[in-house]
Amino acid sequence: MNVLVINAGSSSLKYQLFDMQTEAILAKGMCDRIGIDGHLKHKPEANDKPIFNESIPLPTHAEAINVVIEKLTSQEYGVISSLSEINAIGHRVVNGGRKFSESVLINQEVIDAIEACARLAPLHNPANLMGINACQKLMPGVPQIAVFDTAFHHTIPEYAHVYPIPYKYLEENDIRRYGFHGTSHKYVSSLAIDYLGGKVEGSKIISCHLGNGASLAAIKDGKSIDTTMGVTPLEGVPMGTRSGSIDPALVDIISSIEGNISVKETMDILNKKSGILGVSCFSPDFRDVETAAGFNIENGHRVEGAPVNEKCKLALDIFCYQVAKFIGSYIVAMGGVDAIIFTAGVGENSPYARFGIISNLGGIGISMEEPKNRFRGLGEFVDITGNDSSAKVLVIPTDEELVIARDTVDIVKG
Ligand code: AMP
Repeated sequence: MNVLVINAGSSSLKYQLFDMQTEAILAKGMCDRIGIDGHLKHKPEANDKPIFNESIPLPTHAEAINVVIEKLTSQEYGVISSLSEINAIGHRVVNGGRKFSESVLINQEVIDAIEACARLAPLHNPANLMGINACQKLMPGVPQIAVFDTAFHHTIPEYAHVYPIPYKYLEENDIRRYGFHGTSHKYVSSLAIDYLGGKVEGSKIISCHLGNGASLAAIKDGKSIDTTMGVTPLEGVPMGTRSGSIDPALVDIISSIEGNISVKETMDILNKKSGILGVSCFSPDFRDVETAAGFNIENGHRVEGAPVNEKCKLALDIFCYQVAKFIGSYIVAMGGVDAIIFTAGVGENSPYARFGIISNLGGIGISMEEPKNRFRGLGEFVDITGNDSSAKVLVIPTDEELVIARDTVDIVKG
């Protein structure tokens, strides 16, 4: 069975075509600048056909899907001979609200419900729906499955997901902690449980998905019991451009400092100009910031004689401290921890960030073996636990697309 996985954003659309017999990727790529001018990068993986990497008009999401299908089936760049070889489509949907606790087959009722959740994720859900609508138009009859970022966190107990604000916002407006990166947390934590001997009952895992967006999850008995992101992906640890958790009164304070700008404009500052970018005044990208702070991004070590940009160093210190603080709180929440997982762009690639975070946990007996940590992007599972550490420290590459493809197969096969 071939499954096409679609991750549609407001002006981009990422895709991967899987052969689910072997779970091999046949092709993958990304449409960019949809509705602006358009660009496609398409990479066949199943054969040695060339990469397509060119500007191409993409006025709408439907046009983008059309171009993707054309490339997947073309003589020059293709990996399948016709559209009929796409057996099912799995869509990433960011917020499933209170309704969806697992992946579902898409029908009109599901589309309406995703639309209804759009006010909780105004940047993401409408874009996800554009991807779904475009596929329905071009491939009617091919089963489509929605896989929600929020679903894995439905098991978070009330005391951890209800905000201490007037109850009517939960009751009437569905305002609660939803959490995101659910497919990633689910995937890496299940690999960690396998590694620890496969006993789900009693397992205590902390998964740190640290990328441009970052969140941690406390996973007890294989279930999410708490996570750092909230009703939106702004809450939690500082991120590339997002502030993470701050005093909510800052919304009012920043607005008045900036001359009574609107709430929306203030939120833009917290979403797009804060976090690592905000403090470093330099870049949202950890590679740039680590380099400017005088560290070697290959091994995390200080480069002899390199100048130190103090704001970049401070941004990194804040990030490592906040991540470690949440790890500490999740150890309390679970009554211990068996393994801490690092995943996503920063977690998989930054020896500096891993070291900086784990160094903050020495007081509670968690350590890592520094020489084993000196790598970036191996694309494989690496155990970097220190000799005397009370919990495993693991680097596990995430694969959200594979989780979406697997869920799609499970639902199609019933
Ligand atoms: P993601 O959102 O998971 O794709 O993660 C993207 C982020 O990973 C980038 O913005 C970088 O900050 C970070 N990253 C990738 N490679 C490295 C590296 N070698 N060292 C530090 N950070 C990295």
